[in-house]
Amino acid sequence: MFGAFWRDERSRDRCFNRMKNRVRADHRIYGVQILDKSKSLHFADAHAHSNPVNGLGASEIAKRFKRKGGWFVALVGLSPWHYSIDEKNYNGYIKAIQLHIKECRAVAAEGLQVACFAGFHPADVDKLISAGKPPEEVLRLGLQVIEYVGKLCRDGVIDGIGEVGRQHYRTSPDRFAIAMSIMMRALELARDNDCLVHLHLENAGTVTVLTIDEIVKRVGLNRSKVFLHHVKPRIGLEAIKRGYQVTIPGHKETLRYAFGIKELAENMLIESDYIDDPRRPCVSSCPWDIVDRELELMVEGIVDENTLYKVNVDNIVKAYGVEHRI
Ligand SMILES: [Zn+2]
Ligand SMILES: [Zn+2]
Repeated sequence: MFGAFWRDERSRDRCFNRMKNRVRADHRIYGVQILDKSKSLHFADAHAHSNPVNGLGASEIAKRFKRKGGWFVALVGLSPWHYSIDEKNYNGYIKAIQLHIKECRAVAAEGLQVACFAGFHPADVDKLISAGKPPEEVLRLGLQVIEYVGKLCRDGVIDGIGEVGRQHYRTSPDRFAIAMSIMMRALELARDNDCLVHLHLENAGTVTVLTIDEIVKRVGLNRSKVFLHHVKPRIGLEAIKRGYQVTIPGHKETLRYAFGIKELAENMLIESDYIDDPRRPCVSSCPWDIVDRELELMVEGIVDENTLYKVNVDNIVKAYGVEHRI
């Protein structure tokens, strides 16, 4: 039965193996060529955290990211206890924000562009109430903290408020209401002080975007100043259609899916949401890993160089109002 093409089974297998090796070699050469070209590509991380007390800290993160072609990081502050600040009050938050501002400056000192954000994370509401703080005190604290951040924004010390938003997990109605109130005030402060806002949301589907849009419309804040962070691609697309900024987590399969949706791929940003916690390294990604994943997807032909340039440079310049400098 092998007579038509091959003398025998062995010569057929040899032929198949030669073909397979050639395909592999082609892929390798093609991949190397693409990776050579990629040296001229620049990469951005549209939402990451740093921890100078318990993690690598911003200088080291910036150095590692820069070695991979990184040029921009949106650096978002962490809550006081991440920096081992025990005061769960206004003073503790001020200390944490001041520490974070130094971290933003450390990124700039490494020659990267940086956008600096500080806020009151929705999970802080649960953390503080669980620690025994009365709900009304947590509400007052959250409002005071973002008021302070609004001032820093107005003075040009930082670029935006974040993270604020809604819990992405089940919580009690009063805690949810507190997080919502803080988010709504943050949107007003952003409107009045020319700040950007990073929203942490429940990622529940189209309704996440629709309910945010109802609020943003009433506040009268320009949608392009509002970033929906860590969004799933489908929700991201809904948000982009309405003029919001979206940062998509840099996980390989999420990116593969997102790059497949043209309108999303052309308008989105990519984030690591790195938390710089040595106990949980690279959760959800390390900034330098998102570069590798983007390049792997380029080698696989899922995304082209132009789209990567748009996502990592053009869209960042537009969304954050920074200049592309390296
Ligand atoms: Zn978040
Ligand atoms: Zn985050």
